Amino acid sequence: MLAATAAVAAGGVGLADASAVAGTAAGKGLSIDFLPATRAPAGRATVLPIRVTNNHSTRAVGVSLAVSAPSWVDLAADGCQRQRRRLRCPVRDLAAGAAATVRVNVTPSRRGVYRVVAEASGQTIADGPSGSRRSLAGVVSFHGTVSPISPALASRMTGVSWKPGCPVALADLRAVRVTYRGFDGRAHAGTLIVHRSVATAVVGVMRRIYAAGFPIRRMVPVDAYGGDDYRSIEADNTSGFNCRPVAGTSRWSEHAYGRAIDLDPLENPYVSGLATSHQASRRYLDRSLGAPGMLHANDAVVRAFAAAGWGWGGTWSGTKDYQHFSASGR
Ligand SMILES: [Zn+2]
Repeated sequence: MLAATAAVAAGGVGLADASAVAGTAAGKGLSIDFLPATRAPAGRATVLPIRVTNNHSTRAVGVSLAVSAPSWVDLAADGCQRQRRRLRCPVRDLAAGAAATVRVNVTPSRRGVYRVVAEASGQTIADGPSGSRRSLAGVVSFHGTVSPISPALASRMTGVSWKPGCPVALADLRAVRVTYRGFDGRAHAGTLIVHRSVATAVVGVMRRIYAAGFPIRRMVPVDAYGGDDYRSIEADNTSGFNCRPVAGTSRWSEHAYGRAIDLDPLENPYVSGLATSHQASRRYLDRSLGAPGMLHANDAVVRAFAAAGWGWGGTWSGTKDYQHFSASGR
């Protein structure tokens, strides 16, 4: 995260010229500049242009900008969303060397000097050869399809992730094939098995996750791991349906109904008693690590699932299941 601060004068009190104190910050290949603002009296909007530049020579990044100000100063901008006291602006994907400017309308409710803080975070979405400035317009667009379980898939699943006696019939499951962004920044195709009642919603969620540039390690049905949840997690595999009980109980898991998805499970462990049973997950017990693939409250992935009405196991009290999303919230 990179932050820049600008002090802005309102109503002629304090600083004479906002641009004179405009802040610049650079780090991790991004820079933020406050461009000269138009001055306006209290109660009227000042337009504060904030420019984010991708200084990488070869790397395209998906950028998100957060802007905050004191509570008596209202912030608004086209294409941005207000979250609590912050304005969150998804900046379009920036090719190497490219810049984008967000014009924020700043309206103080009284006279006084205030500070506007802008923070940018970037996620690599493509790495090109040195000197390349290719535009992201050519990046693979998202595709999502929903299909019944084919006879070939049914035979791979039967006796592995599905058996007679499972709470859902194979006929009620769907194969959802979607584009996802890998940790290599490239587009890949993956398959999730889910209940037919949620299949279309899952396509929409995955579309949003792809647009946000969030990386996913792999996405194959758990049958590739013999239906063994532990092995699927060890492979950092993102998956949906698996006819299995909740670990340590005889109760069916939400996965057994095809209404739950585990995402990047190594980066997002099931944490019980401050521990994980996967060695490779230990470093991710520190949820402030900020490593790629880690999920956080209110991030683009959690919001994408929430928009479909799905809950996140990262909000559970006590035992937390950071990888787990489900239609029921359980
Ligand atoms: Zn789960």
